[in-house]
Amino acid sequence: MSYNVDENGYYGQFGGAYVPEILYKTVEDLKKAYLPIIESEEFQKEYRELLRDYVGRPSPLYFAKRMSERYGCQLYLKREDLNHTGAHKINNAIGQILVAKKMGKKRIVAETGAGQHGVATATVCALMDMPCRVYMGALDVERQRPNVERMKMLGAEVFPVQSGNKTLKDATNEAIRDWCCHPADTFYIIGSTVGPHPYPDMVARLQSIISEEIKWQLHDKIGRDYPDYLMACIGGGSNAAGTIYHYIDDERVRLVLGEAGGMGYETAETAASLTIGTVGILHGSRIKVMQTEDGQIVEPYSISAGLDYPGTGPIHCNLYEQGRAKVIPINDDEALRAAYELTRLEGIIPALESSHALAMLPKLQPLLKKDDVVVLTVSGRGDKDLETYLKHKDRILN
Ligand SMILES: *Cc1c(COP(=O)(O)O)cnc(C)c1O
Repeated sequence: MSYNVDENGYYGQFGGAYVPEILYKTVEDLKKAYLPIIESEEFQKEYRELLRDYVGRPSPLYFAKRMSERYGCQLYLKREDLNHTGAHKINNAIGQILVAKKMGKKRIVAETGAGQHGVATATVCALMDMPCRVYMGALDVERQRPNVERMKMLGAEVFPVQSGNKTLKDATNEAIRDWCCHPADTFYIIGSTVGPHPYPDMVARLQSIISEEIKWQLHDKIGRDYPDYLMACIGGGSNAAGTIYHYIDDERVRLVLGEAGGMGYETAETAASLTIGTVGILHGSRIKVMQTEDGQIVEPYSISAGLDYPGTGPIHCNLYEQGRAKVIPINDDEALRAAYELTRLEGIIPALESSHALAMLPKLQPLLKKDDVVVLTVSGRGDKDLETYLKHKDRILN
């Protein structure tokens, strides 16, 4: 039994490539090209040099002493927040733009919600001198000003999307539409383990540098290369996929993933698509989505813009359905509390998304033994979320 992708792009019943006729050849070309490119010596040399000298990898694996004492375990934090541009997304953006260049593409499009993937993509487009258009819901453009300004400074064109609820789902629809109009010269850099095959597998491989490093870093620190628990948050699933990649078939390692419960998964204000979603097709892939009985997408809600997506990628849908990964919905207030706890105990301000991973610790605590080694990925830094944190400070700290 393996949890990896099969030759048709499926993870169990999830995945596949449901694309319009006009994109068929483009997706087929990518499917044929991505593995030979990624596995080539030339790609690996360039990719790894950039990860080291430009992104600042390896990211530290930090033993969090005070948090360990609080939760009665040995807690290590994988510090993706220390990467250039402040999150794990740059690992994937660098990899995909190198694939785009090797395929002879001349123009980049991307979608973004909170703006993190847009910034990462605009960054690598500046680096590689490629024109870049980022689709972003008009509401998100308003909510995420600083990231919009950053993308513009980097030379990207930010295109506000006025359709639907004017958030990530609508931006993704518009990016796909653009791609359909320019399939020959345009490469679509998708920001998470979502979209048609081969994107989920390609993104997981490009993020797998995270678990590759965890292996040798753990070995250096504790003399064995696997933890008892791996923890991460899931939006589309890319930082979680990177965190678990080299451990996915290693049953000694328990996988615990935190999705956005919003105001509670039993309410209408939620983005807990694994917990409450049903099987459907969204953005080219068969996944669990929040939808009505007649297949209309239900608008998701989370305090965290990076987790505010009505579906989850096929890798995690399968891990959840097979019982390989435990998935815990985390509510807004639990995430906010976890953010203040990490900040006050360790002096690290995490992204709101990452706070959803941290907030699983109190829920897991009854199971944890003192010698258990827990590795938790801090997917990004919290600078972008300061306003939200301060708005809720008095309520959360009291
Ligand atoms: C985008 C983002 C996420 C969610 O995306 P995944 O693909 O699920 O990793 C999580 N954390 C941060 C900091 C992000 O920017």
